[in-house]
Amino acid sequence: MEKSIPQTALVPDSDYVIFGGTGDLALRKIFPALFWRFCDGQLTSKVRLIAVARNSIPLDVFLERLRPFCEEALNSYENAETYWARFAELLTIMPIDIATGEGGAELAQHIGDKKDDARPTIFYLAVAPALFGSACKLLSELDLVWPQSRLVVEKPLGHDYETAQQINSQLKAVFAEEQIYRIDHYLGKETVQNLMALRFANVIFESQWNNKSIDHVQITVAETVGVGERAAYYDQAGALRDMVQNHILQLVCLVAMEPPSHFTADQVRDEKLRVLQALRPLTKQDIVTGQYQDYERELDGVSNTETYVALRMGIENWRWAGVPFYIRTGKKLSVRASEIVITFKPKPHDIFKKSGDISAEGDLPNRLIIRLQPQEGLKLQLISKAPGPGGMRLFPSELNLSFNDTFSARLPDAYERLLMDTARGNQTLFMRHDEVLAAWSFIDPVIKIASQMAPTLYRQGTLGPNDHFGSDSDSIWIDPSENSGQ
Ligand code: NAP
Repeated sequence: MEKSIPQTALVPDSDYVIFGGTGDLALRKIFPALFWRFCDGQLTSKVRLIAVARNSIPLDVFLERLRPFCEEALNSYENAETYWARFAELLTIMPIDIATGEGGAELAQHIGDKKDDARPTIFYLAVAPALFGSACKLLSELDLVWPQSRLVVEKPLGHDYETAQQINSQLKAVFAEEQIYRIDHYLGKETVQNLMALRFANVIFESQWNNKSIDHVQITVAETVGVGERAAYYDQAGALRDMVQNHILQLVCLVAMEPPSHFTADQVRDEKLRVLQALRPLTKQDIVTGQYQDYERELDGVSNTETYVALRMGIENWRWAGVPFYIRTGKKLSVRASEIVITFKPKPHDIFKKSGDISAEGDLPNRLIIRLQPQEGLKLQLISKAPGPGGMRLFPSELNLSFNDTFSARLPDAYERLLMDTARGNQTLFMRHDEVLAAWSFIDPVIKIASQMAPTLYRQGTLGPNDHFGSDSDSIWIDPSENSGQ
């Protein structure tokens, strides 16, 4: 049976020019996402796909490298081989050296014919940020920047506030803010968008969504993999830059933001910005750093870089005053899971206490679990009566909205949604320049404090260091494997 997402909104025919088109990001994420959208009919045979790289490679070699990453799509459609052959016809490989501009004229000739059309041209810079400035300048010199041109960039958007500002200036010297799409692929995840639907399309949660009803919020992004071949890059970044400044702060924003008056790009981003601006500055007591035991051997050097970090954050406004937001992320942990857990306050009075039938489990608080990966979905933990004649015995039960079960269809990868949004001209799920800078403003002082702390060594396959914020971990953290059945 063919798999498809429930609905696909058509996108205009566009040109996608992927700089770094032969690199890891392009092969693993960008082109497979475009292939899925092509198989689903959302992209038509009128799109043009141009993979730009420094070195020219023959199309058949490129397709051979790409194919393993498209295997799932190829196995999902009866006519997959026909789609694959038609997709290949849309592709052009073009050698251009961004640093020298060599080869650029050919690109201008190839796509310049659409300059006066309404047809979007999307330039995706899947190259090192050091090349962003030269790439933008080259596009301008080639006269390829017109109202329908769009620029897509993604992390790392700077190493700190100052370098992020430099990158912004380089992009904005050529493109208007309305043309710049800064990807944080977490925002393209179905559950993350569903968090907004849950909060702003239902009335039942909003009245509880504050410090009167919520005890605390936990956000965990746990990985089982280590740094591997990325050690040299990672050692310059650490978990705070690699995960917290971007993905996790974006999740904090979506949990904590006020309802925008309309679901438009700038209104959503205005509200997220306000959350970032309201973050309480952290002290050493709010920060825990760790490093997995094998890290220095993998790096082949001595390092203080954190492969694990936990923060106790606070948001200084009426809605959230007094509610801790605990966030943690780490590598080589015991479980691969990304989730947000909202723990509600204990009930004000327990009418079942005297019956003697209440177990410790039956006394758990209500929790809303928003799972980003694996098994995207939402769960609401409630307390129910155990069925049967055995008296009023209470036990924790769940309202489970597993997206896979509910929609009986595959959920598209975040890049599929985001790439289609670039063609549609919808910036709602992309970061604006002031959000990126506000996130750096918050995280720069945290990085400074963390760099003066010695990270606690932790064993691979655990949940990181044992103590946090003056308590042991068990008293704070909910084990993500409890929620995933892993
Ligand atoms: P990569 O595998 O090293 O690929 C780099 C690509 O850029 C290659 O196609 C390379 O072409 C091209 N390139 C390098 N210098 C060039 C130049 N002067 N002119 C034109 N093309 C040039 O890197 P990657 O992993 O795809 O990452 C690219 C960027 O995305 C990095 O900044 C990375 O941090 C970021 N990113 C990557 C991921 C990921 O999953 N990989 C995720 C998020 C962000 P040649 O091979 O011909 O030199």
